[in-house]
Amino acid sequence: MKCVYCQQEFAVNLTLREIFSLSRLLPKDLCQRCRELFTLNHHAKKCLGCDKMFETGYCEDCREWQRTIPGVVLNHKSLFCYDEALHDWFQQYKFKGNIGLASSFNRELSAYFRKKRQSLIVPIPVSDERLKSRGFNQVEELLKAAMISYVPLLKKKGEIESPQSNKTRRERLKAQQSFYVPVEHLSLINQRHVLIVDDVYTTGRTVLHAKACLAQGNPQSIQTFSLAR
Ligand SMILES: [Zn+2]
Ligand SMILES: [Zn+2]
Repeated sequence: MKCVYCQQEFAVNLTLREIFSLSRLLPKDLCQRCRELFTLNHHAKKCLGCDKMFETGYCEDCREWQRTIPGVVLNHKSLFCYDEALHDWFQQYKFKGNIGLASSFNRELSAYFRKKRQSLIVPIPVSDERLKSRGFNQVEELLKAAMISYVPLLKKKGEIESPQSNKTRRERLKAQQSFYVPVEHLSLINQRHVLIVDDVYTTGRTVLHAKACLAQGNPQSIQTFSLAR
């Protein structure tokens, strides 16, 4: 095999567990040395809302969201730590547009989403301009590489410039809603468990916008997930 990240040839030695599990269907696309660059987000203590390392309960950012949007449900999950190694990987994948890297974490993603078979998987969209310049939606490509079915229900609005200064945080959040679901597709969400997928969680704004948008379709639950946190 050739590693998609370092381009070196490597031998694939399957463990017994891999031989008997479905994950063997997916190729191992990172060599062991590259795979070890990245760290799973397995901290024992994490914020209940956004999945970042945090001593107990909700972090300050999440408490701020709870103050801004009373009753908001924060239940984000992630797979990897957004550290320097993953930052560099994202530079190659997103900003240099190396689509070949989409399969880097296919096994980890496949294993995670195997437990989410009942969910309607909805990726975060990119704008038309971004799609044109990059050539692909980085979230959809991660899902495709891991053979995860998804429904691209969310659409990205064009950029709207408006004066923000005299608005409250809540008004700004509402005004800045950057997604929509075509009205004829809202019924697909009705009573489903929805799982929104993004590449990186930073402020939470993106997934909260997506959540608010999909909530119009009356889902049974909405969870959010990102490759990195
Ligand atoms: Zn490698
Ligand atoms: Zn938090």
